Amino acid sequence: MKPLFLLLSRGVEVVLDLLFPKRCVGCGQIGSFICSNCWRTLPRLVPPVCPKCGKPQPSGLLCASCWRKPGKIDGIRSISPFEGIMQEAIHGLKYNNLKAISVPLAQLLAIYLETTLLLVDVVVPVPLHPKRVWERGYNQSGLLARELCRLTGLPLIGDCLYRFKYSLPQTKTMTAEERWRNVTGAFSCCNSKLKGKRVLLIDDVCTSGATLEACAAALKDGGAAMVWGLTLAREI
Ligand SMILES: [Zn+2]
Ligand SMILES: [Zn+2]
Repeated sequence: MKPLFLLLSRGVEVVLDLLFPKRCVGCGQIGSFICSNCWRTLPRLVPPVCPKCGKPQPSGLLCASCWRKPGKIDGIRSISPFEGIMQEAIHGLKYNNLKAISVPLAQLLAIYLETTLLLVDVVVPVPLHPKRVWERGYNQSGLLARELCRLTGLPLIGDCLYRFKYSLPQTKTMTAEERWRNVTGAFSCCNSKLKGKRVLLIDDVCTSGATLEACAAALKDGGAAMVWGLTLAREI
C-alpha cells in the first residue's frame, strides 16, 4: 500500500493535468511538453565540432576564435542549435514559468552524458544574480541541474559559485566584445568544496561562451581541476 501523501500528490497531479493539460511546445499536441514526434526530430549538434567551444567545425579541429582566446574552460558541448522546438522549450522554461519542462529537457542532458562518457565528479548550475532570481522566481539552470543529478546520481553543488554582478542578458545583438565585458569578473567561487573536482557546468543556452568561460575562470581560481560546460542549446 502506497503512503497517503504519495496517493494525494498523484491525485493533485491528475487534477492539474485535467485543468492544465501538458501541450507539446513544438506542435501543440496534448499529452506531454515535447511529443514523441518532436523529440525524434529535434535538431542535434553532432560532431565534427571544435573540441573547445563545441561549434560545428568541419575539420574537427580548434576553431579560429578558440586559437585566439584559449580561456579556462576545458570544453563546451550543447545538445541542439538554438532554434525551433528547443528555442520554444527554453522560452517556456525561462519566461512562461514552465518549470516542469525542465524534466524532459534534463533527460536530454543525461542521455548526452551517458553516451559521450564525459567524466565529471559534480554538477554546478550557472547562477543567476539574486535580483534576477527574485524577478523570475527560480533559476532555470538550477532546475535543469537538479533534475540531471536526480537522473544520474551525480552530486549537485549549488552553494559555491555566485554571481555578484547584475549584468544584462547575453543577446544576439551584442558584439562579441560586449558579451565578454558583460560577464567578465561577474562570478566568484566562495569556498573550497570544488578543490580538485571535475565540474560540469549546466546552462540553458550558450550564446558566445562568455558566461561559461567567466564561470570556469572563477571555479578554477577556487581550485576546480577541470570544468566542462553543457548546455541545451547554442547560438550558431
Ligand atoms: Zn510535438
Ligand atoms: Zn572553438
